[in-house]
Amino acid sequence: MNIFSHILGFPRIGSMRELKFAQEKYWNNEIKINDLIYIGKKIRKKNLKIQKSSGLDFVCVGDFSWYDHVLGNSMMLGNIPKRHINLYKDKIDINTLFGIARGAYYNKNFSHASEMTKWFNTNYHYIVPEFSKNTSFKFIWKQILEELDEAINLKFDKIKPILLGPISYLWLGKIIDKKKFSKLELLDKILPIYKNILFELEKRKINWVQIDEPILTLDISKRWLESFIYSYNYLYNKNSKILLTTYFGDISHNINTIKNIPVHGIHIDYINSKHNINVILKNISKDMLISLGVINGRNIWKSNLKKIYEDIYFIKKTKRKYFLSTSCSLIHVPVDLSLEKNIKKSLMKKFSFAIQKCEELSLLTKSLKESNKEILDNNFSKSLEKKCLDKCFSHIKKNDLYRKSSYKIRRKKQKDSLKISILPTTTIGSFPQTKKLRDIRLQFKSNKIDLKKYNLEIKKYIKNVIKIQEKINLDVLVHGEPERNDMVEYFAQHLEGFAFTEFGWVQSYGSRCVKPPIIVDDIYRKKPITLKWTKYAQSKTNKLVKGMLTGPVTILLWSFCREDLSKSIVSKQIAFSLREEVKDLESSGIKIIQIDEPAFREGLPLRKKFVKEYLSWSIEAFKISSSVVKDETQIHTHMCYSNFNNIIDSIIKLDADVITIESSRSQLKLLNCFKKIKYPNGIGPGVYDIHTSNVPNINDIKVIIKKYIKIFNIKNLWINPDCGLKTRNWKEVKKSLKNMIKATKEIRDEI
Ligand code: GLN
Ligand code: ZN
Repeated sequence: MNIFSHILGFPRIGSMRELKFAQEKYWNNEIKINDLIYIGKKIRKKNLKIQKSSGLDFVCVGDFSWYDHVLGNSMMLGNIPKRHINLYKDKIDINTLFGIARGAYYNKNFSHASEMTKWFNTNYHYIVPEFSKNTSFKFIWKQILEELDEAINLKFDKIKPILLGPISYLWLGKIIDKKKFSKLELLDKILPIYKNILFELEKRKINWVQIDEPILTLDISKRWLESFIYSYNYLYNKNSKILLTTYFGDISHNINTIKNIPVHGIHIDYINSKHNINVILKNISKDMLISLGVINGRNIWKSNLKKIYEDIYFIKKTKRKYFLSTSCSLIHVPVDLSLEKNIKKSLMKKFSFAIQKCEELSLLTKSLKESNKEILDNNFSKSLEKKCLDKCFSHIKKNDLYRKSSYKIRRKKQKDSLKISILPTTTIGSFPQTKKLRDIRLQFKSNKIDLKKYNLEIKKYIKNVIKIQEKINLDVLVHGEPERNDMVEYFAQHLEGFAFTEFGWVQSYGSRCVKPPIIVDDIYRKKPITLKWTKYAQSKTNKLVKGMLTGPVTILLWSFCREDLSKSIVSKQIAFSLREEVKDLESSGIKIIQIDEPAFREGLPLRKKFVKEYLSWSIEAFKISSSVVKDETQIHTHMCYSNFNNIIDSIIKLDADVITIESSRSQLKLLNCFKKIKYPNGIGPGVYDIHTSNVPNINDIKVIIKKYIKIFNIKNLWINPDCGLKTRNWKEVKKSLKNMIKATKEIRDEI
């Protein structure tokens, strides 16, 4: 019996982020289009070779992308927002693609970028397709065929093209018409293009094509589910067989429909559906091939190949054909572990990045083919055998979770002790990260300057930031976060239990990559983290300085987590560490402390049935870190652009004294839920958008504040920008904040 191996996609950024650097140079006019195209070609060739030489049976094409694969699909279908097509008419090229992704000038008129949002529950962001009832589609961007021909010319065989499926594509997009309609109405217009592509693949003797339909793992309505039967009936191709590919979850809840979708094979995310595997296999017809995603594409730990071997040995005894694969595309893990030179040997043994995962998969497949378990790696050791710090979670006391008094009582005490005026003004924490500042951190890291010089420079920055805020006349000041490169990495570096890579980059969006810390051990705080700089800032002013921490949920979700402990337990370890930090800040006289949780909303599971569990541990973690303070100390939290509609109850449960959110873009829509529920605590909904370089004028800010006053109790309202200011420049920041203060003052005078 033959078992074949394949992955669902390889990272496209290049092991040294070659694509990122080439893109950015191209955007800065430092290289020509041909240079950029050449780099792309080189990366693709290397990726194909990696798959081949790892011993995988299939190699992928279609996983490469110039910015984002959903945008690539929009291009493929000719779905170009009107504002980006005017000049080009029918001629679209790579500049059209970058224009949609980043915004572009056409004859001095700026056409804004398409919206960007999270790809399911990952930290990857895609460009949201825009649909209108009369959107027309046309196959003009033929990247998929060109890259297929390129691979054929390079003499690769067993090539498996990858397409984002038509139904998931529609589901991921948004309607831009005023009048709503069902996106499924567009299906009949896009299916012929897919059909045409399948013909082209057939002509090139392609045996299997991977069509991604990850929405099959979600709770989707009957109407959406049934559209799969109809669509795949139409797309059916005898020779180029469709591998209907699902990931990020289980499909057993949709199995009654899925079993009737006429395709030749189905890929399932085995990591997330092990427990339901029998239900799935029982339902899917025996002559359908199953691809089992057994190697985790979402984390960096080596797989326990022997265990997987035993778990899936049954596939040898059935008549069905099987593929073995990764649970999802490997774009969610770094490229190559072997580049790392500074990671301890004992840890290196436990990690596996994209290249290593290909090798693991290939070895596993070989051992199953040959029924030879002995060849499997004996090196596997679990990420850590539960030696966790018991104080962290075994005996959480009620006191650990609740503030001493209710918000009402706290509010009165805080009012008396903080003496802040009505409509208090503040910022979200960071101030511009200038090139000079980044250079200083870099020089310190590479030992080019010593600690003394580094500290001096950071002090200088803080002193200056305080002076500026005093001059502008803000009410609650911040130290500006000059010591932080990244809000998660900084805390991870100052806590025990994390490891760091040098080249462990993962694409976040476009050319932007992140390097998540790795949780490799129990987490605890050895010594204070932010105390020094916060205290220094406070010593420079008589005004209140707000301490600034990254919250436990965000630190956890933006790191690679260990797998031998639940997220709930790991989050508590982080939470208790932060609790100590909060206590120290309070003891040293800091009266306001902000605990940022920008990842809180995005951590929400994809399926309703898992939501309760997530909210229970995430709320608990936040409360453990924040509840330690006395009534007079004010706890703030900040969350970035979030749709709070379904979780407003949980936001209330966090019981922060003040929440600042990013609502200036979505404005009233987002706030409606706060209004409906009569949000009881302090709130700063953000009076201007920091994501553009526009300086908001006084009047516009006044209009927004007045709107907010109508929605919220004025006594609860805070005035602030909608996010941190680190990506802006000083000129914009000063002007904007001045206008914010003036607008606030005028409103205070009017009321
Ligand atoms: N305090 C952080 C900052 O101002 C918050 C960042 C965020 O919301 N992502 O930069
Ligand atoms: Zn934010």
